[in-house]
Amino acid sequence: MLKLFNSFSSSKEDFVPFEKNHVKIFICGPTVYDYTHLGHARIFLTYDLLSRCLNDQGLRTDVLVNMTDINQNVFNKAKENSTTYKNIAKFYASAFVKDLEALNIQSINRLAYVSDYVKNIEKEVLTLIQKHVAYMAHGNVYLDISKVKNYGKISQQTKEQLSMHRLDIGPGKKNPEDIMLWNCTEDFDFSWKSELGEGIPWWHMQDTAVAIENFGKNYDIHGGARELLYPHHEAHLAQYQLLSGSDIPVKAWVHVGLVLSEGEKMSKSLGNVVWVKDLIKKYDQNLMRLYIFSKHYRDDIDFYEKDLLTKKPLLDLVKFAKSKVSDKTHEDISNLIDDFIQSLSNDLDSPMALQTLEKICIEVRNGKGISPNDFNRICEILGIKV
Ligand SMILES: [Zn+2]
Repeated sequence: MLKLFNSFSSSKEDFVPFEKNHVKIFICGPTVYDYTHLGHARIFLTYDLLSRCLNDQGLRTDVLVNMTDINQNVFNKAKENSTTYKNIAKFYASAFVKDLEALNIQSINRLAYVSDYVKNIEKEVLTLIQKHVAYMAHGNVYLDISKVKNYGKISQQTKEQLSMHRLDIGPGKKNPEDIMLWNCTEDFDFSWKSELGEGIPWWHMQDTAVAIENFGKNYDIHGGARELLYPHHEAHLAQYQLLSGSDIPVKAWVHVGLVLSEGEKMSKSLGNVVWVKDLIKKYDQNLMRLYIFSKHYRDDIDFYEKDLLTKKPLLDLVKFAKSKVSDKTHEDISNLIDDFIQSLSNDLDSPMALQTLEKICIEVRNGKGISPNDFNRICEILGIKV
């Protein structure tokens, strides 16, 4: 049984999907105005590992990623390049897909551009207004968070802490922390006409519409970076609860730690962003996977490029073990494979699983047998191709 740390309950829980043998996963995708950096890649590598573990246990995974193309940064890039936001989005989305493919991330089967969901967003915002949980104020629409049960639970904030936030500032808001759903007052380069007025659907609501239209009333796992917990995921959950009528529309909220670049937060102004497209020119994707999985997904990673090479001995060992596969798996190796699976089942403890992988390869080097099936099973779970 797979255990996952659920941010909603702040505890490690047995993971049981809504439908037997079918796991629906939504991962907050990129805002498509730039290339993929290592912090993004880590997120998708983590859910790729999770999907592969679930697949190994016989569960089918359905992984949805939204492409945020309605966003000021995308619009700015379009303006800089004298083109449309759609062209910018397409360009960077295809670069994103190429980077993911280079990292052997195969689990994502649905990519959704949020601009394809504007009508759905409009309909859903109107529903929230009809339910009297959202309101219009000076042209904008906001979610009245005082009407939301358990608001603050996922980001573990009390009512008092929540009230300290000043979000989506605009005139006529009922509570300072109310979340914007539709913005009609700012002047955007691109906008959509709707019954709510001409404007743009706001970020959190974009994800909610994408998830509802693809997955319906509920899904199993919502993933993304830990920094998205508040207000993004708190808002998404509130909207989903109100629209689906379910208190628990998502079984598990699984958050991934940050990737720092030599002690600093990655930022273009500091010039320290680590781009996947540059790394994959220089390093074997296997090495990158082993490096990312050598840290627990919930911990932050402080990335120094030289550290990638520290995984080379393990990769060489795995390659050597492959050359030694034999008819039958020795009992000691079978037990180690069980340990390997067990570690991953324990909230994706990949650092421990990699230690076991090393032990397995050493045993194989010392003459104990491993069958091609067992060897391939391990590589398949880790997504390494040797
Ligand atoms: Zn999101």
